[in-house]
Amino acid sequence: MRTAYDLSLEDLTARVTGWGEPAYRAKQVWRQLWQRAATYDEMTDLPPALRERLAEEVPLGVEVLDERTSDRGATRKSLLRLGGEHVIETVLMGYPDRVTVCISSQSGCAMGCTFCATGQMGLRNNLTTGEIAAQVVWARREAARLPPTTPQRLGNVVFMGMGEPLANERHVFAAIERLTDRASFGLGARHITVSTVGLVPGIAHLTTAHPQVGLAVSFHAASDELRSSLVPPNDLYPLAVLEEAMAAWRAATHRRPSIEWAMIDRVNDTEEQATLLAPIARRLGAHVNLIPLNPTPGYPVVGSSRGRIRRFVDVLECARVNVTVRDTRGRSIDAACGQLALSASGA
Ligand code: SAH
Ligand code: SF4
Repeated sequence: MRTAYDLSLEDLTARVTGWGEPAYRAKQVWRQLWQRAATYDEMTDLPPALRERLAEEVPLGVEVLDERTSDRGATRKSLLRLGGEHVIETVLMGYPDRVTVCISSQSGCAMGCTFCATGQMGLRNNLTTGEIAAQVVWARREAARLPPTTPQRLGNVVFMGMGEPLANERHVFAAIERLTDRASFGLGARHITVSTVGLVPGIAHLTTAHPQVGLAVSFHAASDELRSSLVPPNDLYPLAVLEEAMAAWRAATHRRPSIEWAMIDRVNDTEEQATLLAPIARRLGAHVNLIPLNPTPGYPVVGSSRGRIRRFVDVLECARVNVTVRDTRGRSIDAACGQLALSASGA
């Protein structure tokens, strides 16, 4: 057990009754932990001695080490220590119509994508089920503190923070289970998206385990030679195999996958790449999401210019591919995609 959110209701009941408390207390704590996203201090209907013991023996396990805001307070990047040990970043993004939290599944990442700051630091640790879920519970609480220009209510969860979720499948799937369980957190699975570098077995497992969860696949290139140079796991799961897995996901779930593409100046923003991407996206009925490359210390190349992005979009649109350019929220605080590398802590 690393955090209170790692316990099942049965585990919690065993603890609480072991301390001589009635079993209904466990249910009371559980509801407040998950549904109200309450801290022990806020559980004022519990006897103070019980609250103290819970805080000591089953801590919530979320400590805020640092916090930065941008976009007039609507984007908040928080450096969190989970379970007393694992340091990661979680980003809360408030829009006029929704609040989304971008969560981490690992501290660091082993996949080695050259342009990604998390990849540049290597893998430190997998997060536990509770550590993953705790970020979302924490976000539900924090959403209320966002400016009134946002709904101040958590709506969506994306696994686009640190780490490769399908390389920590067991804990990621168990966290999704808890978060979507009506008796626990009660978030609709359709409001969750898993973003993966393209680990094919994991995509198949996701289809079976959580067919309602959205799928985003980080392509970045539409030829194997270029993709392998940017995204090393492409050697194991080349584009044809990846497309097949995504097609199977689409057939089973009847949903559109997303294709993520970081726009890197003169590397993957060429007409040739757009022309190769178009038929793949069409076959998959995929939505293409272009992300202007965010600068990272270990990758000297810059993001594409507006003109080059425009041309890339034109090629896709002419081929009737659904495409959008993602905003670069939080760039000034290193909270944008791929920049989550513990910059705030120097850790
Ligand atoms: N490991 C998963 C999820 C985390 S990365 C994955 O790779 O999909 C989340 C997204 O940020 C991915 O699409 C990733 O390719 C993108 N990304 C990484 N580094 C980036 C950078 N420097 N600029 C823009 N996007 C980046
Ligand atoms: Fe890992 Fe995703 Fe970064 Fe690649 S882009 S190194 S898979 S976090």
